[in-house]
Amino acid sequence: MGNEAEKEPKTEGQALAEKLCFEIKNCWDTATGETLRAVQQFAEQYKTFLDQGKTERECIKQALDMLNKEGFTDIETLLRETGSLSPGAKVYQNIKGKSLIFAVIGTRPLSEGVNVVGAHVDSPRIDLKTNPLYEDTGFALFDTHYYGGIKHYQWTTIPLAMHGVVIRKDGEKQELCIGEDPGDPAFTITDLLPHLAREQMQKKASEFVDGEDLNILAGSRPYKDPKAKDRVKLNLLNLLHEKYGILEEDFSGAEFEFVPAYKSQDIGIDRSMIGGYGHDDRSCAYAALHAGLSFAVSPAPLKTVVGLLTDKEEIGSMGNTGAQSRIFENFIAYLCSKTLVPYSEIALRQCLGRSSMLSADVNAAYDPNYEGVYDKKTASYFGKGLVLSKYTGRGGKVGGSDANAEFCQKVQGILNKNNLRWQYGNLGKVDKGGGGTIAQFVANLGLDVLDCGIPVLSMHSPFEVISKIDLYTTYQGYIAFLREA
Ligand code: MN
Ligand code: MN
Repeated sequence: MGNEAEKEPKTEGQALAEKLCFEIKNCWDTATGETLRAVQQFAEQYKTFLDQGKTERECIKQALDMLNKEGFTDIETLLRETGSLSPGAKVYQNIKGKSLIFAVIGTRPLSEGVNVVGAHVDSPRIDLKTNPLYEDTGFALFDTHYYGGIKHYQWTTIPLAMHGVVIRKDGEKQELCIGEDPGDPAFTITDLLPHLAREQMQKKASEFVDGEDLNILAGSRPYKDPKAKDRVKLNLLNLLHEKYGILEEDFSGAEFEFVPAYKSQDIGIDRSMIGGYGHDDRSCAYAALHAGLSFAVSPAPLKTVVGLLTDKEEIGSMGNTGAQSRIFENFIAYLCSKTLVPYSEIALRQCLGRSSMLSADVNAAYDPNYEGVYDKKTASYFGKGLVLSKYTGRGGKVGGSDANAEFCQKVQGILNKNNLRWQYGNLGKVDKGGGGTIAQFVANLGLDVLDCGIPVLSMHSPFEVISKIDLYTTYQGYIAFLREA
């Protein structure tokens, strides 16, 4: 490193470029020792969250625990006790254990709008069919239907864990989790040995492993009664009944989700990255949750702070726990009805129209192994901070959300003011594919919405990778937005 005297003065052109050009710097270069410690600490806590939250229900359960610890209360319980929502009040609404909305009431009236960060907590996975257990040639297998956009072949030959919620015939709710604790058995989907795969290897990757063939290996030991039928299956049902009291019939309406059985792990000798299952979108959900929790201490925020964690994003945000439902609108109506006098339908619409949201979702990071599909100039990169996506959608921006220039500049300004690095990122080259987030559904209510999240490698695979410093920068960015937007 040279001293000042050795530095050559900038030429006029260099100075002009510095003034006019946009250069995205690497966050690691400017992080202080204190920040680096915070980055590592946040990453460690996040890894625990990821390992303990492999389903949408488990993520919501953890989020509720954190909110309760910070003094948040169920909104109906609080209103029953106090009858009102005053500035600083901390409330949440648990939607069927799969979605969650929480708020810290601000000092300004809700008629001025609220600041929202919204993420989703469901991730691609393998679900069981409704009558899943069968026996074939001495094996007991589970028949499945995958959930979300996956490359089928990636889910073979890895250890899988079973996370189930069963409502038994007697009405009792029985939760099952097999494959996560050390010493637990796990499951797997087999693949063909290369020796016999000559034909298979000629197929297109989309047909390489058929969705219908994602059958989970579950047992191979027969029940000890030679006269019984399907004895391997029977043995399995017997074991499940002994331990959990469930019958084959109970599988029908139950929710069984198979997810990678391994834990998240640091990636790289420099430990700069995290590999794990479900970064999409639990990394943003975790950042959003913690950003919201930072407003739990007084003084109350100016504008009301809202956190939204939704389900079903990976299959289109449908249903009564998805972002297309009225869960968010209903919650805001609830807040308005208790704080605005007189409450009216138009007061709610005005509040929504004056509100702002960051749609917190991951973006496809530039991957040097697959450069053909990315536009290097508009891709997002590891280590360069949170990614803003002005628009989503596919071919011709169809089916996406497109944020207004005014709102984009507002968010950029907030991040700049807080010395937080940001980059814009689009999902691949034009016409190479595309995708959407919950942004469009919330924007339909009148809010200004901008997609803003974390760059991820191997998205939707059983082992996705993110950068620790992007996770932390995103968390800081969400706080800045919630405080100032
Ligand atoms: Mn996502
Ligand atoms: Mn996704």
